[in-house]
Amino acid sequence: ASSENSLGLSRRLAAGADDAPAILAPDRATLSHGGLRGLIAATAKQLHERGIGRGDRVAIVLPNGPEMATAFVAVAAIASTAPLNPAYRADELDFYLTDIGAKAILVAEGDTGPAVTVAERLGIGVLRLVAQPDAPAGSFMIEGAAIGPQAVPNMALDGDIALLLHTSGTTSRPKLVPLSHANIAASAAHIGATLGLTADDRCLNIMPLFHIHGLIAAVLSSLATGGSIYCTPGFNALRFFQWLSEAQPSWYTAVPTMHQAILPRAPRNTEALSAARLRFIRSSSASLPAQVMAELEATFGCPVIESYGMTEAAHQMASNRLPPGQRKPGSVGASAGPEVAVMAPDGRLLEPGETGEIVIRGPNVTAGYEKNPDANATAFAHGWFHTGDQGVLDEDFYLRVTGRLKEIINRGGEKISPLEVDDVLMDHPAVAQVVTFAMPHDKLGEEVAAAVVLREGISASEGDIRGYAATRLADFKVPRKILILDEIPKGATGKMQRIGLAAKLGL
Ligand code: ATP
Ligand code: MG
Repeated sequence: ASSENSLGLSRRLAAGADDAPAILAPDRATLSHGGLRGLIAATAKQLHERGIGRGDRVAIVLPNGPEMATAFVAVAAIASTAPLNPAYRADELDFYLTDIGAKAILVAEGDTGPAVTVAERLGIGVLRLVAQPDAPAGSFMIEGAAIGPQAVPNMALDGDIALLLHTSGTTSRPKLVPLSHANIAASAAHIGATLGLTADDRCLNIMPLFHIHGLIAAVLSSLATGGSIYCTPGFNALRFFQWLSEAQPSWYTAVPTMHQAILPRAPRNTEALSAARLRFIRSSSASLPAQVMAELEATFGCPVIESYGMTEAAHQMASNRLPPGQRKPGSVGASAGPEVAVMAPDGRLLEPGETGEIVIRGPNVTAGYEKNPDANATAFAHGWFHTGDQGVLDEDFYLRVTGRLKEIINRGGEKISPLEVDDVLMDHPAVAQVVTFAMPHDKLGEEVAAAVVLREGISASEGDIRGYAATRLADFKVPRKILILDEIPKGATGKMQRIGLAAKLGL
């Protein structure tokens, strides 16, 4: 049974026809789905020879690119993967490698950075990925000394942990989320279904591959539907349009701050863009301002699909639909997979139109945070997983995320949704980006502040923007302070972080 299961798994991680394209990259030959399945089998053998197998945890610290994508699927087929941000410093690596319980770390051949030093200090085996630049994109071999006792010579099964990720740490210390093969397969299938992905689709990946969004929405949903993925070295607004013409992708997925960085770089002559065969653009991981959605649709001439995801749900929980299905600006769409509901603090499920905490349950949801019984008790109360997000369903069961419970600004007892203030400030003609957040106040506890980035060539003062906000918002919601910045500080995944921003900006 286990060999059948393992065959099933590599079929699912690379589901296309033998000669169908799977992995592409700039200046590289194409790796086919058959080639990827061969790479999965070869990786299993090389890991097994070094004593790595089912249940073992392998941290992956690689630069973004085709090898990172193939290493994720190939290592996951036999062991548990834990992709880490290659920008981490020694202290961070120490925390993450220990928290994960890594048995080995997979690094690039010539890597002599802190990942290797810290792994050696912690007694974690070091495996080296030897890229094959003349072979098709993503090809690699694994080298390194044998680590520990021989592993059980079995491929991973459905219930095994495929992926270990920490949450982004936007609202608290990052929590460790184990996701099984069943979890990630359910999410990839959900994404494939809501976007109508087929073997003809090609995703341009600009997302980091140490985060759930890129791993599942870009890589796994493409490979699991038999399609292909063009792997870039990571987001770069200057190179984006060159990749677009080289890769001829049918879609790309990104966080709103990336879409915002791409828009001002769009070629004035829209011929190049209409020649691109983009079928749609996907946005997820943070709220997409309506203005940005409209601008993207006008610029690229294709629908923009906003989706709702989180690490604990193996990414996707709900999504808008492509025409002739419905897409509603301001909504994150409806689920075609997990159950999504809105709950009152006492555990009562609320009706459409009523605002409460967004809760979900379904095959994509993690079995629970590791080593964190307190977080699990709160998160899994009343038989549903609690997202920590606030939202409301409409009559079509389309969900609107109205904010994060922890980010609600409490101004002397008056609760203010930072998203609502963002929406108003985004309507000011000079504002390109905004993030509203709480700043400490000695009498009120918290006071509203906002940081904005202005559009190129349009000027506005703090007073202008505040004056505009005052015409649209009740006085208590108008930011007392508006900082005009060149750039808004973001987390590693490109998300703007409201919590801790005041301190970061010296307020
Ligand atoms: P932490 O849980 O450590 O604070 P995080 O929640 O930012 O970090 P992720 O799992 O990467 O880590 O992000 C999931 C969250 O991102 C969701 O709970 C939600 O708040 C937000 N989010 C995702 N998609 C959307 C969207 N389309 N609109 C609004 N918010 C979104
Ligand atoms: Mg979270």
